[in-house]
Amino acid sequence: MKVIHNYALQVNPTMEEKLNDKGKKITRWNGTRADKETRYAHFNIHKYTILKDKERWSIDLIKMSLQRSVKPVISCSFGIDSIIDVYLTRKALIELGRDPSDIDIVWNDTANEFKEVRQYQKYITELWKLRLYVTKPKKTLKHIIDDNGGITSDYFFTRKGDRRGGRPLSEKCCGTLKHDPMKRITKDMQWDLLVVGLRADESSQRLKAGLRDGEYFYSSAEWKAFVVRPILWWTEKDVWEYVEQEGIPYNELYLKNMIQEYPMNTEEIVFANKELIESVGLDYYDLGDRETQIVNRKQAIILEKLGFKLFTPRTGCMMCPIPVKYGYMQWIRLNYDKVYNAMVYNLGYGEALVSMIPKEVREEIEYIMGIELTPENIHIHLREILEVKPCTFDKF
Ligand code: SF4
Repeated sequence: MKVIHNYALQVNPTMEEKLNDKGKKITRWNGTRADKETRYAHFNIHKYTILKDKERWSIDLIKMSLQRSVKPVISCSFGIDSIIDVYLTRKALIELGRDPSDIDIVWNDTANEFKEVRQYQKYITELWKLRLYVTKPKKTLKHIIDDNGGITSDYFFTRKGDRRGGRPLSEKCCGTLKHDPMKRITKDMQWDLLVVGLRADESSQRLKAGLRDGEYFYSSAEWKAFVVRPILWWTEKDVWEYVEQEGIPYNELYLKNMIQEYPMNTEEIVFANKELIESVGLDYYDLGDRETQIVNRKQAIILEKLGFKLFTPRTGCMMCPIPVKYGYMQWIRLNYDKVYNAMVYNLGYGEALVSMIPKEVREEIEYIMGIELTPENIHIHLREILEVKPCTFDKF
């Protein structure tokens, strides 16, 4: 509670105007972030904190931020993290003696969403009587790619934020499909507090952002609003334990996790962990025989710990190039063949990826097809290549 009290005390943004050395007027913000001790307080202990206490921090944090806000909004992708935010905010509103549905929710519909997300969005909006605002981008993914002159390898492999070769296409894409519509509606609606579902254990970049800004801060440059991150220090395991504990409905995409690689000593591992494997509802014999391919998220978390390699889908853009390097094309090929074909042929991913296939895969295809594949002719043979070896784009 002291940490949350400190956030409230310390995050008090004020704008200062002054002249720089050249006599030009500049503005400077003060009090946008809490001190390091406050920002690091929950990080330093989150690994040893039980879920019940994390839930308490989160609700108290939301209550504090709501009490300082006139027009709050929850940013919701209908993925599990933002749904936990909505659920916790509803609890916070009840504790404040308010209607749990009395808060704006915004969904950035990228026009590139899975049908499971759309179905779930309708279901939960009705169930929880959500006051939902939906944004639409000004351009589609296809337009963004075409305007850029087509797909290049940087779209798949350059990290967002890496400006060495100019602004990567993936960054422009996120700007147009997600950030710009969100900025426009935040300004139009005059939202002064954004509740977001960022979690630090998702990536090192998110961890850095979490430690830099903390759980509650004022975003003077990007959003011009306060931002609260109620589940910043929750782990993925916390999230799924909480979902189970509270019986929170989630979208069916989370049931489609794929085992990409079995460990070398699968039989030994399965034998040594029989009870654990059965406790999450997995068939012990099928797993030992390497017959299991699709598992739910709770099972995926356990298997990852046991040394299995998994692809775990996320809600968000269905045709995103960013996860291609993690085996996304295999997952999409096996689960959504029409989407796979649209990515390969309509969006031009096939032409870009075919020139990047590893040498040994290319040689194998050359052997089966009986022709030599060169940088000049490989694109012409794209369909035949995928016919003789459908898994060509599975791994990079
Ligand atoms: S997540 Fe992927 S497809 Fe979606 S906007 Fe960002 S780069 Fe584009």
